Amino acid sequence: QMAAASEYVHAVYDTVVKRNHHEPEFHQAVFEILESLIPVIAKRPEYMKHNILERIVEPERVVYFRVPWVDDSGSVQVNRGFRVQFNSALGPYKGGLRFHPSVNASIIKFLGFEQIFKNSLTGQPIGGGKGGSDFDPKGKSDNEIMRFTQSFMTELYKYIGPEVDVPAGDIGVGGREIGYMFGQYKRIRGGNEAGVLTGKGIVYGGSLARTEATGYGCVYFVNEMLESKGLSYKDSTVVVSGSGNVSIYAIEKAQQLGAKVVACSDSNGYIYDAEGINLDTVKQLKEVNRKRISEYVKEHPHAVYTPGCEGIWSIACDIALPCATQNEIDVEAAKTLVANGVKAVGEGANMPSTLEAIEVFLNHGVLFGPAKAANAGGVAVSALEMAQNSMRLHWSFEEVDAKLHDIMKNIYNQSVKAAEEYGYAGNLVVGANIAGFIKVADSMIAHGV
Ligand code: GLU
Repeated sequence: QMAAASEYVHAVYDTVVKRNHHEPEFHQAVFEILESLIPVIAKRPEYMKHNILERIVEPERVVYFRVPWVDDSGSVQVNRGFRVQFNSALGPYKGGLRFHPSVNASIIKFLGFEQIFKNSLTGQPIGGGKGGSDFDPKGKSDNEIMRFTQSFMTELYKYIGPEVDVPAGDIGVGGREIGYMFGQYKRIRGGNEAGVLTGKGIVYGGSLARTEATGYGCVYFVNEMLESKGLSYKDSTVVVSGSGNVSIYAIEKAQQLGAKVVACSDSNGYIYDAEGINLDTVKQLKEVNRKRISEYVKEHPHAVYTPGCEGIWSIACDIALPCATQNEIDVEAAKTLVANGVKAVGEGANMPSTLEAIEVFLNHGVLFGPAKAANAGGVAVSALEMAQNSMRLHWSFEEVDAKLHDIMKNIYNQSVKAAEEYGYAGNLVVGANIAGFIKVADSMIAHGV
């Protein structure tokens, strides 16, 4: 059975490569998941019989569209918008929007594909989707952001809805952008459908703890891994890449649990603060003033700023939390982290480690929390936001945080159990993929072809 399963998996992978030219990130995400499903396919012949794999790697729908807007100088600019509605077996499509110049079909499809399994792991009734644009928010005025996001929603609204597809934020899309998009959707629809977007402001239907959820959730997940080995955050040294929404709240929770976070970064470079990062300064710089992380050293002259991003992984640490972007840890960075004694890695970003880097961590017994498990807290609280919107009420911060904590423990336990059951004890990459996959596959079978 193993041989037949492996042959099937590789045939499906070849089809993906053939059907999706020049989409390396999408191929990478598909390869990583399909490989880990071989033992499941071998044990459960119905998945091959219903050709679940060839169906699951093909998005249900992909839309891409023109986004014209007028910049502050009066010139007309054009960007491309995307929405991938990947899988609706478990619920309405759910996943963020990314605004970044690197966005293309490959990036959105890799993110949408990952989202299917991540969302399944949360135990919430949400399918998988993702979208975004190659628009670069960096250096744009507030008015330009508003005009762009309104134009984006003027087209996107046709494809979304509280029971259909519910976008949220991702890189380059935060509370401000969600607010402008929600306003535009409301104007066009002529009604207030709060559940159409998540990550909304608290006063108009957002959930408490949604802002903190991805970062907090990642730290909770890593805490489960640490505790299983009798370790903890207390007095550990932590390196967190990035300084956006995920990083900031990963730093906050790690510090609350007694860790010393010594570094963080942005796309230009990283800061090292041997005394421990001052999070108020980072929040002020990034959340309020939208400045570069290099300015941190102006207030904390003992800290060191280094241009370029990769060097951050040469800082010795017990726990590494990559919270910036895909493929930020390559095989060399992974080897350096291992050589410097890293004990745990928790992926706050989506697919921040290359396939080869993951191999290095697993082969050296590093506790490794894969993105679709470790960063699922964000989308989990998005699903809680949808639930609150449907009930027209809202929960306290403590209530949502407690539910988030439970969900992260549950994701950890499901992943551990699935890995054991299929012969990969201790490998949470395989465990998370299998646990996420089975629910989606069983639902697809239940719904017929
Ligand atoms: N962009 C986040 C993710 O990668 C959150 C998505 C959401 O809340 O829908 O999971």
